[in-house]
Amino acid sequence: MRAIVNAKIITDREVLEGYNLLFKKKIIKITKELPIWAKVIDAKGLYLSAGFIDIHIHGSAGFDVMDATPEALTGIAKSILQTGTTSFLATTMTMSRTDIESALLNVQNFKQTEGAKILGVHLEGPFINPIKHGAQDPKYIQKPNIELIEPYMNSVKMITLAPEVEGGKEFIEHLKAHYPHVLLSIGHSDASYEESKQSFKWGISHTTHLFNAMNPLHHREPGVAGAALEDKRVSCEIIADLIHVHPSFFNMLYKLKPEQLVLVTDAMRAGCMHCGEYDLGGQKVLVKEGEARLEDGTLAGSVLKLNEALKNFYEHTNIGLVELVNMVTKIPAEKLGLELGALKEDYPADFVLFDEEFNVHQTFVNGVMVKEFEFKEESNEE
Ligand SMILES: [Zn+2]
Repeated sequence: MRAIVNAKIITDREVLEGYNLLFKKKIIKITKELPIWAKVIDAKGLYLSAGFIDIHIHGSAGFDVMDATPEALTGIAKSILQTGTTSFLATTMTMSRTDIESALLNVQNFKQTEGAKILGVHLEGPFINPIKHGAQDPKYIQKPNIELIEPYMNSVKMITLAPEVEGGKEFIEHLKAHYPHVLLSIGHSDASYEESKQSFKWGISHTTHLFNAMNPLHHREPGVAGAALEDKRVSCEIIADLIHVHPSFFNMLYKLKPEQLVLVTDAMRAGCMHCGEYDLGGQKVLVKEGEARLEDGTLAGSVLKLNEALKNFYEHTNIGLVELVNMVTKIPAEKLGLELGALKEDYPADFVLFDEEFNVHQTFVNGVMVKEFEFKEESNEE
């Protein structure tokens, strides 16, 4: 058994000082006691929270989920540990049928040994609206087609789709009936306010990168954003890189949806890397000054890190650390129906130590400490 001492522990309800976190592979408890046989790790006053969960990430460190190789998944999984992320959904792009099938098969067959945990697939497209394709290649957009994805539904945990397109209703209803655990999200959609509300009745309960790739919030046509912000059941992703959404919205969004905001990165392969030319779903992307854009200027995902998203959101709002951290831990875990994302007894010992500036110092996955991409197995395990 090990113990983290001298940390400011951020639980899903409060910040605790003077307590210790006891764990093996799973969390044992948060307590004032310190058993003499526990191996002690001194957090030196850092914050300790559950590991972050990114439900929308395409790539990192030069790798992309659409590369469809085990090396790419491992590369992403290892590199994002430096951002405090301990679990994520491998997010696909709108590409050819063969490319999508290869990516899905790759995740399905992947035997993970290291890095942040891959919880499954977030299928972003190809069942979206060509009018709002954003950085998804419109030439590969398809009508909703369950047959394309049915063999991979073991690993699909989330689908971004446009409910208003032909066949949208039947597709959503089929998924709700046969795969009720899958999180259905409206995104890359041209739906009106009314159409969006309808889709929430059919089973959509999440919004992919709120405000991006949908009609703007208009006072006479509230659109997807207006409908999503109004409905208490519907959660919303925010890409808090200060580019995709103006930070003046952050406080307002939090007031409207204190329990339903999820921070995501939507990072592409240049995440955790330097400026330069990259590829996203077969399209050239130029990365400079923290922005990733297609040649025509369209925003093409981000190079945001999840710990930076937290910092950005925190600096532009007056919310507390507990509520902030819940946006990348408890809330996404609940939306996916997983027992994860909280420092609770019997939950996996996935957690992160970070400082006041949200710099990640150490990340733990299943109780194993990771430093700067390297797993350092502690001796005396268990
Ligand atoms: Zn995306």
